[in-house]
Amino acid sequence: GRDVKGVLKRNWLLLATITSVILGIGLGVVVRDYASLSHLGKQYFGFPGEILMRMLKLVILPLIVSSMITGVAALDSEVSGKIGLRAVLYYLSTTIIAVCLGILLVTTIKPGVSQNADHIDRTGSTPNVTTIDTLLDIIRNMFPENLVQACFQQYKTQLKEIEPPKPNVNATTTTFPPFINIITNVAQNLTKDYKIVGAYSDGINVLGLIVFCVTFGLVIGKMGERGRILLEFFDALNEATMRLVQIIMCYMPVGILFLIAAKIIEVEDWDIFRKMLMYMVTVLSGLAIHSLVFLPLIYFVVVRKNPFSFALGMAQALVTALMISSSSATLPVTFRCAEENNRIDKRITRFVLPVGATINMDGTALYEAVASIFIAQLNNYALDAGQIVTISIMSTVASIGAAGVPNAGLVTMVIVLTAVGLPASDVTLIVAVDWLLDRFRTMINVLGDAYGAGVVQKLSKRELERMDLMSDVDAVNP
Ligand code: ASP
Repeated sequence: GRDVKGVLKRNWLLLATITSVILGIGLGVVVRDYASLSHLGKQYFGFPGEILMRMLKLVILPLIVSSMITGVAALDSEVSGKIGLRAVLYYLSTTIIAVCLGILLVTTIKPGVSQNADHIDRTGSTPNVTTIDTLLDIIRNMFPENLVQACFQQYKTQLKEIEPPKPNVNATTTTFPPFINIITNVAQNLTKDYKIVGAYSDGINVLGLIVFCVTFGLVIGKMGERGRILLEFFDALNEATMRLVQIIMCYMPVGILFLIAAKIIEVEDWDIFRKMLMYMVTVLSGLAIHSLVFLPLIYFVVVRKNPFSFALGMAQALVTALMISSSSATLPVTFRCAEENNRIDKRITRFVLPVGATINMDGTALYEAVASIFIAQLNNYALDAGQIVTISIMSTVASIGAAGVPNAGLVTMVIVLTAVGLPASDVTLIVAVDWLLDRFRTMINVLGDAYGAGVVQKLSKRELERMDLMSDVDAVNP
């Protein structure tokens, strides 16, 4: 009896969240066919969920800035370099494992071979992105030209069309030096089949802020006494933000209930799931194998602790990711779970989690590989070994470039498709089921980040202990 009470008390939020997921699905199913609820009423049904999303997004900015700056400044530059390197190595290797797993599954299950592309309706509008712009955008975003703007402008998921490039009629009379012409020719070749599209929307340029904050943190760390005031400021900001997160999380069950109910009311074409069943099974089983076998195995080999109780500690973050399809907006919850339940050192989480949420997306990488090969199969387009290698590299790049927002992976998939000569517009073939797959891959993205923090903490144990020792000495002889 007392045991049950204890468990309930400790996990009330998680239990409430899971309950509201179930209630939300039920509510959605009931309201969906309830004709007397006007269209307008249905449209505003998700409003409480919208408020939850807004609150979560609200704390991303102060959270990322304060945690990255203090995370870097608190370590000396040599240690943060080592931790950073380990994190990036972990991220890259798990992403590559995910991609290979995806390729293996999609080439064995062959979900697209029995069907043809016309069988599945091409729904939605054609996303127009070019390989070269998508690649350059990743780098552009790392160097925001305006810090304030970086806080609300972002790499995008919603595409805004601009004029297609005009044919270069006065090419011969141009005064550009020849090498510029070569570059424009290459660019035009790469973009010839589709329109160039602006890649901006509202949001936060997380990658740009991370690059800035890491550098800024390093500088502050090197400033000694004079830097201390800034360090303390951002440290206090971080603590205050985490307290805000705690308040927001109390509202989470309510928000999630309406979020999922509204989604169920809104989805129009459930039939598409039947048509795309094998494709979805391939992606989902890939995600399952990656998260239940590979990631736990790596964690176990390195950390020598039970990987599944670690994953259980992350449960609240995983459910959140599943419900809101955004690693960035889940980040506040990821922090709380990693620090409170799994007791990962703050010096590690502050540094590793924001970077992970932005560049480490195992689920997205796996999905990119599966989806692009699936599209090739639909088109009866045989891929040679070289193209498969290209797909694996580009899927990795595309997952790094995808922002941690809903459906980002779908957009960056265009660079995978065009790299092997598939029509970018074929992204529309899989749009209809993306809202569902997005949820699951986001969940695996978040889980991958969390395991990463655990692995990096273990690998950096010695440095962290040495730092503790030094600060103890400082405390004794100030
Ligand atoms: N929604 C995913 C995330 O936030 C990105 C994606 O679309 O794959 O992690």
